[in-house]
Amino acid sequence: MAKKKEEKLATEAEKLKAELDALKEKKKKLDKKEKTQKKAIKKTPAKSKKKKLTAKKKTPLTPAEKKAEAKKKAAEKKAEAKKKAAEKKKKAAEKKAEAKRKAEEAKKKAEEEKRKEEEAKRTFEEELEEQLSEEEIENFQIEKVDMEKLTNKVCEVIAKYESEGMLQSELWKKLKLSSRDGSRLALRLERRGIINREKILEKGRWTYKLILKKTPISTVSIENAPCLICPVEQKCSIDGEISPRTCQWIEEWVTEVKPKKAQ
Ligand code: SF4
Repeated sequence: MAKKKEEKLATEAEKLKAELDALKEKKKKLDKKEKTQKKAIKKTPAKSKKKKLTAKKKTPLTPAEKKAEAKKKAAEKKAEAKKKAAEKKKKAAEKKAEAKRKAEEAKKKAEEEKRKEEEAKRTFEEELEEQLSEEEIENFQIEKVDMEKLTNKVCEVIAKYESEGMLQSELWKKLKLSSRDGSRLALRLERRGIINREKILEKGRWTYKLILKKTPISTVSIENAPCLICPVEQKCSIDGEISPRTCQWIEEWVTEVKPKKAQ
């Protein structure tokens, strides 16, 4: 009885084990299937997306869409052309403004150079003429100098140069005059009609050449002449009874030895 029970239990156990093995095998298969499915799912979306895109790309446009696309492209092209034209216009305006600025600069520079040139042409004497009155020029005196004698000396020196004239700077040097006094003296002599001043460009500087106009009358030569105090001067004439030809006073005055004047 017990033996039969054992056999029955053993049979039951074997049966259960077989069932368990079968279940295990089934589970194994199911796991494998699930794994395969998961892999398939992972790959599927990309593929489908790609397929979707390809499908979209390949979809032919309708006439209306084509028209809209063409219109859009034309508008873009027009906008681009407008932008380029505006840029070109802006550049042209900038170029014009730059040219105008340069022209103005050149004009200003030329004016400045002209002004400087004119200023350089102005001489010290011209400035003096502006600063001094006519009276101050005509009555100019150098301290402790006999102006009449100085004038005679100037005429004597300039006369040697005849109509060619003499550079005033050379004259001042010869007479040991400062250019300040010399310039004033030249103005005085010109005002008195004794010399002419000719403006010339000498070694890049404007100066004057002095040309003798007329020799001043010197009273030195008639100093102490008897005729000046002669009581019969009214009756004296070349062919008269009283005449210089026969005048004793004149003879004595002419022949008398006169002291030499210092040079
Ligand atoms: S020349 Fe003799 S007389 Fe005649 S004015 Fe002269 S000083 Fe007199």
